[in-house]
Amino acid sequence: MNINNNFKKVLITVISSIFLLNACGEEEQLSSVKAEVVAAKTYQWKMVTSWPKNFPGLGMGPERFSQYVNEMSDGRLTVKVYGSGELVPGFQVFDAVSQGTVQMGHSGAYYWKGKIPASPIFGAIPFGMTATEFNAWLHYGGGLALWQELYEPFGIVPMAGGNSGAQFAGWFKKEINSMADLKGLKMRIPGLGGEVFKRAGGVPVTLTGGEIFSSLQSGAIDASEWVGPYNDLAFGFHQAAEFYYSSVWHETGTNLEFLFNAEALAELPKDLQKIVEVAARAVNQDMFDEYNARNNIALKTLVEKHKVKLREFPPEIMKALKGYTQEVIAEQVANDADFAKIWTSYSAFLSSIREYNDLTLKAYYQNR
Ligand code: CA
Repeated sequence: MNINNNFKKVLITVISSIFLLNACGEEEQLSSVKAEVVAAKTYQWKMVTSWPKNFPGLGMGPERFSQYVNEMSDGRLTVKVYGSGELVPGFQVFDAVSQGTVQMGHSGAYYWKGKIPASPIFGAIPFGMTATEFNAWLHYGGGLALWQELYEPFGIVPMAGGNSGAQFAGWFKKEINSMADLKGLKMRIPGLGGEVFKRAGGVPVTLTGGEIFSSLQSGAIDASEWVGPYNDLAFGFHQAAEFYYSSVWHETGTNLEFLFNAEALAELPKDLQKIVEVAARAVNQDMFDEYNARNNIALKTLVEKHKVKLREFPPEIMKALKGYTQEVIAEQVANDADFAKIWTSYSAFLSSIREYNDLTLKAYYQNR
């Protein structure tokens, strides 16, 4: 359905309405014409993202959203997707949506930590919730309302935009056997995970995804995290580092975000608003399903074909990282009122659902 077809629809409706005016009440007819005009109006949106265009996993969320919305609205709302740097750099997605340069964006909340200290809670918190726990909190535990309140001053409405599931600790050029091995280690690790890594003796570095490979290969950094086997294989990190650590700690269920310019969203008719909301929910689940299906296959390829050395951090390191995480979070709570408020909700939900999941899933994982 294109604009021409929609325009024809309106014309036909207007003409037929003139003939029908005698048969029905004039007011009734006018409101029906008005409804048809509203239904035929089209909206062309732009979405900027923080990922290379069509990047596996992360970059497919925006593409699928665009496809779903176009199909469900029969072309009344179209969304053109731009990769990182095509319209704005990946780290300026939030500002572009806030200023109304574009109607929407797709990114990760922890990238806005400098502007909004509480934002990482809606991206990834070390030793935090799993993807299913996070989605439960967001949609049935009050999380989404807190998130929308946090972004409201910026004229942005956020919605969940996909989940990577638990991420790997990452790629290391040497084996990590004790805390001493972390000392002075230069690692690409963003967000609060980076803060924790610093306390553990490491040197966190912030790089965009596209900069990681060359930095790892040249030795500018000693280690890097990115996502997990499916995405890491796509970037070819196995050609730059030998050891791959599976230990889950810094991003336990990373939530991505759709950002909507509040005014642009409010301008949409109610049915299109609902289509946008339902498409975002669908993409959120879809991305998680895809990672779950593809990660384990990619890991087999990395280990069997590319001879990657798969490792886990020793318990000493995991314990230390957990301890430093508690310190970092306590400081965030003390320094930022929004962080404290949201953390109260997040941590209460986590401690309650953890008990339940330990009783059921944790036991089942060990028994099956
Ligand atoms: Ca990551």
